Amino acid sequence: MNSSIRRTAVSDISNATPVAGHVDYIAKPVQTVYGEHVFNESVQRARLPKAVFKALQKTNKAGEPLDPNIADAVAVAMKDWAVEHGATHFTHWFQPMTNQTAEKHDSFITPTAEGGALAEFSGKELVRGEPDASSFPSGGLRATFEARGYTAWDSTSPAFILDNPNGATLVIPTMFLSWTGEALDKKTPLLRSMEALSKHALRVLKLFGNSAAKRVFTTVGSEQEYFLIDRRFYLARPDLVNTGRTLFGAKPPKGQEMEDQYFGSIPERVLACMAEVEYELMRLGVPVKTRHNEVAPSQYEIAPIFETANLATDHQMLVMEVLRKTATHYGLACLLHEKPFAGINGSGKHNNWSMCTDLGENLLEPGDTPHANAQFLVFCAAVVRAVHRHGGLLRLAVSGAGNDHRLGANEAPPAILSVFLGSQLTEIFAQLQKGKAKGGKAAGHITIGVSHLPKLPRDAGDRNRTSPFAFTGNKFEFRAVGSSQNVSGPNTVLNAIVAESLDYVASELEKAVKGGTDINKAIQALLAQMIADFKPILFEGDNYSAAWYEEAEKRGLPNLRTTVDALPLTTAKQTVSLFTKYGVYSERELHSRQEILLENYCKTINIEALTASMIGRRMILPACLKYQADVAGAINGAAAVGAACESQKRLLTDLVASIGALQDALDVLDKATAGQPHGDALAHAKHQRDTLLPAMADLRAKADALEEVVADEYWPLATYQEMLFIR
Ligand code: ADP
Ligand code: MG
Repeated sequence: MNSSIRRTAVSDISNATPVAGHVDYIAKPVQTVYGEHVFNESVQRARLPKAVFKALQKTNKAGEPLDPNIADAVAVAMKDWAVEHGATHFTHWFQPMTNQTAEKHDSFITPTAEGGALAEFSGKELVRGEPDASSFPSGGLRATFEARGYTAWDSTSPAFILDNPNGATLVIPTMFLSWTGEALDKKTPLLRSMEALSKHALRVLKLFGNSAAKRVFTTVGSEQEYFLIDRRFYLARPDLVNTGRTLFGAKPPKGQEMEDQYFGSIPERVLACMAEVEYELMRLGVPVKTRHNEVAPSQYEIAPIFETANLATDHQMLVMEVLRKTATHYGLACLLHEKPFAGINGSGKHNNWSMCTDLGENLLEPGDTPHANAQFLVFCAAVVRAVHRHGGLLRLAVSGAGNDHRLGANEAPPAILSVFLGSQLTEIFAQLQKGKAKGGKAAGHITIGVSHLPKLPRDAGDRNRTSPFAFTGNKFEFRAVGSSQNVSGPNTVLNAIVAESLDYVASELEKAVKGGTDINKAIQALLAQMIADFKPILFEGDNYSAAWYEEAEKRGLPNLRTTVDALPLTTAKQTVSLFTKYGVYSERELHSRQEILLENYCKTINIEALTASMIGRRMILPACLKYQADVAGAINGAAAVGAACESQKRLLTDLVASIGALQDALDVLDKATAGQPHGDALAHAKHQRDTLLPAMADLRAKADALEEVVADEYWPLATYQEMLFIR
């Protein structure tokens, strides 16, 4: 029978013995596990010569350039520590333009003349690596004959050890650059954007009389949503294996309508898996904090405590990797795609973002004093101004074939960017705009009159889950990020656009003060003007409603519905001038990125189309024909004894017609796949969106209709009910 693979899976699952635990927190309490595989500050302090440690701290904490003379000493200490932890190899770990990490391992072994070997690792090897760059997407930045690219040590993200069943590897976070210094990765622009934001945030702080802070970091906490399904079903679904999402599957009788999954009790096998994931992540110093069931059946979430954007990004990549790897230990498959299943919620990654000084002051934390509140309002307004001016870039930063299925599908915020502030802050901004809040000086503090405003919200009382960009008490939450995406992209854009806003604020205030205007008055006037300008981006209502789409259009907010609509913005004039001005991307880098993203989109849809056709022709069609033959045989048999029945004949004719429709849809899809235009990437992407995707959707509709009439035992694909509810 076609369905034997399904039957076996179900029977295996029902007979499976519970997985034994791999983690023992009694032998090793949780606090001793945390960070044990990280070459962190305390290990560095203990193992590095004092002067070397100090020099490294200066680079990591104050952003000073790395002293090349310390590399050898750091390398030796790192290697000794790694070897003690069982490491045999080291790798430069980087984040190419693929949403995944890349690594190439080299052993520490250096043979000696006497036939023995030493474990060696030099400063040179620590600081720079030279992987062959030719097989990574570069978007024309590097011709394949000029394959050289190099990795450069990022000392601000500590090295760590990754275990495997037969050893361990010392992993060194790095940037990945072309020989000419252009970024080929996602970390380099992120670091540049953090630099830009720090510079201009410090200027604003100085105007508020704060000269003690030496650096401003952006902080990020990303909540990761994911699915866990039985691996046997996963392996029996070529669409999941090839594309990460189901391209077929009729709606099951039960979906998420009972609302009994969110925060429900976690199935034991899943909980065991989560616990091992957390154990591994804690060893790697990833501060994982919460776990719970999400809205859709078999959907879950893991969230860490926030860290600086760079570290949070590296750790987020590890979260995805460890989830994928650990799931298999429990016979599960982890699905990180934005939309693995139609008809139920997809997965996102809420990106919580704020700015924090090196002295630990969160600049988006409403203060206790009027002075602190004025500063808070200025930083908050700068962020809102940035989203208003560059909402399209934030949309661009979360684009991708997978996320297109989510954005605007009434489960995730729409592709239209707006900001939710909560009623109290909205009210305060409204007052400031009207200039009602009077200026004044009290005890040498800048008050800009906010002293008689209501106490600012400590904890945003009201919440709006439909907003793509919401203020949540002391941070903003960008909710449109896709579950499989590297968060460095959205954070690079956020940092860059807020840097531009802070630059504007600082310049305006510096100019006013220089011209003799009282700083209080200058701040008040600037806030009023900024608020008036960015008002159209504020929206407190239901972002899912049709009325909002109309309203947003009236307000002139861009609605870049699909990835293909958004991507050309990468090289638009204003984008180039923004990113080059703040040194985040060069124009060449932007062109290469646009090329890479378009290509990635085209390839993704091409793989989906080929997979859909393969499953349709070689699995579904044959199964349907078999069933049709059996039905025909049964009718013939009945006719032979004179018991022919009209309604049975109708079953057969309907079946024949449905199978014919499936074949027609397959032909249309194959023709569309063969007819892909090559050459112009944008034209190609449009073809994928406008021709291939609809052809796939139509094929799916025909196949799903058949799934509802063909006898279950003939059906070759694991059903939605099996994948989502057999745990
Ligand atoms: P929620 O607001 O979603 O109910 P939390 O307040 O617990 O939940 O925070 C959610 C995420 O936001 C967590 O990952 C948390 O670490 C992160 N977060 C909290 N404060 C900040 C901050 N200042 N900067 C960045 N992320 C933060
Ligand atoms: Mg949240």
